[in-house]
Amino acid sequence: MTKIFFLGECMVELRELDDSTMGHSFAGDVYNSAVYMKRCFPTITVSMITAIGRDRLSEKMLSRFKSEDLDTQFVFQHPSKVAGMYFIETDSAGERRFTYWRNDSAAKKVVQFLTDDVVEQLTAADMFFFSGIPLAIIDEDSRDAFWQKLARLKQAGVKLVFDPNYRAQLWASKDAAIEQFNKAFQISDIALPGVEDLSVLYGIASAEEALDFCQQYQLEEMVVKNGPQSVVTQIGTERHSHQITPVTNVVDTTSAGDAFNGVYLGARLSGRSVFEAVQLGAKAAGTVIQHPGAIAPLAAFKQAMSEVGI
Ligand code: ADP
Repeated sequence: MTKIFFLGECMVELRELDDSTMGHSFAGDVYNSAVYMKRCFPTITVSMITAIGRDRLSEKMLSRFKSEDLDTQFVFQHPSKVAGMYFIETDSAGERRFTYWRNDSAAKKVVQFLTDDVVEQLTAADMFFFSGIPLAIIDEDSRDAFWQKLARLKQAGVKLVFDPNYRAQLWASKDAAIEQFNKAFQISDIALPGVEDLSVLYGIASAEEALDFCQQYQLEEMVVKNGPQSVVTQIGTERHSHQITPVTNVVDTTSAGDAFNGVYLGARLSGRSVFEAVQLGAKAAGTVIQHPGAIAPLAAFKQAMSEVGI
């Protein structure tokens, strides 16, 4: 059975329903990708690797993972830390503002739980996905151990997949992010960067330049996302620019890239061509941005994907 691990942080999302009531849901870039992959490719075993707490909200988060049919064998429950949380506000101009409570979240500790025995179990996977967000939030003193564990997975033949997802506020400095991202690109087999992420850190201005940048690493598959403009891929030496059909009714672009990643990788793991995988990923992303929040309602999402045979 095909198996993929997604390592990252899922957070409690708070939204104001009215002046005195908050609603909550759960989101986080890597988790979002896992959800969308599983929704489209149910025969793949999709596992989350993260640390949550033993508090009531963490328990609810765990239940949500299960209700999305994610494998939770490697969701660790820290004895004293709690799940991270953020509050999202949308002003009258539609601009989103986030307030985070994540500096002491359980997910920062996830590397502690990746014992040698756990890592050996992870070698059974076909693929391991991580992004620049978990890379930024894991305790700084666990980064070396993290890279050693990834090296073990790579040695065992697990394909490592990286999306930089650069968030400036999570890093002590640009240089700190660049240092870690270089390690991530060096060890990975597949990279799925957005042009925007690379432009801030490396001064890259176009999807083509992003592919040129990727050439310095030993990546076998490069997929560069460039919003509604295009997706540009390079497999071996073969480059291709894929057209995206722009969505006119954009409600909320949160998790467009995450949905793309999950569905693209699910399609590739299912033996689809790069061309088909891009089209399916783009359809998922184009659907998600027509709904508020990171996770689109299941029925609407499934309906849209059924139009492309998923
Ligand atoms: P991120 O969300 O990581 O910043 P992008 O903005 O590049 O990444 O968006 C990811 C994917 O979402 C794109 O590759 C594209 O498929 C899709 N997408 C984004 N914006 C639009 C849009 N306006 N219309 C249609 N598809 C879009």
